[in-house]
Amino acid sequence: MPDTKPVVPSIAIDGPAVSGKTSVGRALAQRIGYRLLDTGLMYRAATWNAIQNNVDVGDEAAVSAATEDMVFLVEDGVDGENLIFVNGEDVTRYLHTQAVDDSVSAVSAVGRVREIMVAEQRRLAGEGGIVVVGRDIGTVVIPESPLKIYLTASARTRAIRRHREFVADGTEVELEDILHSMERRDLADSSRKNSPLRPADDAQVVDTDDLTLDQVVDRLVELTKDVV
Ligand code: C5P
Repeated sequence: MPDTKPVVPSIAIDGPAVSGKTSVGRALAQRIGYRLLDTGLMYRAATWNAIQNNVDVGDEAAVSAATEDMVFLVEDGVDGENLIFVNGEDVTRYLHTQAVDDSVSAVSAVGRVREIMVAEQRRLAGEGGIVVVGRDIGTVVIPESPLKIYLTASARTRAIRRHREFVADGTEVELEDILHSMERRDLADSSRKNSPLRPADDAQVVDTDDLTLDQVVDRLVELTKDVV
């Protein structure tokens, strides 16, 4: 049988909402010369697309049909971030609204949506040299990856981090509202039937509560030394 493993592996990073996965994944990718694939953006794009098409996000068949019709493309931005194009339009800036946050867990729990997204994620990861960030990357998307990282932090620490980002943006939001919305999303993501959020059995769990972003990235760069 031909060996289909890419010469350069891809790395899996999973973790709950606001665990810093995307910032850490992007910084890690830059440090080791890899690309980044933020799979959360893909589920957000499917959610945005459903909302745009007035699809009831609780209607699985309608959400599946809308996602099947959605032509999407993930590209690399100038700073190593991902951009998502839907039907030719860069929609990245619409993907972190409260409306998308509130509906994304319902959309990402739909089996057909996951099939479509996972197929594209595996295709991209198969090229090798990509840090793939999400919820089921180590367990479902690339379980063969030689390095699977699971980032954690307490719910309050994560809510405080997100609150700081909102304040820096000039957006007024109550810390407790962020905490509750995040906890709702974590519960939905980890209790769903399809690919629930959980660390792979052989994941390296990194608790970021008392670490700065740079410290987390340093730790991850160390972990990559055995595999890249
Ligand atoms: O990572 P981010 O918070 O942007 O992800 C948004 C949502 O997308 C998650 O709350 C989850 O419902 C879904 N998601 C997923 N599987 C992934 C990545 C994200 O179900 N691999």
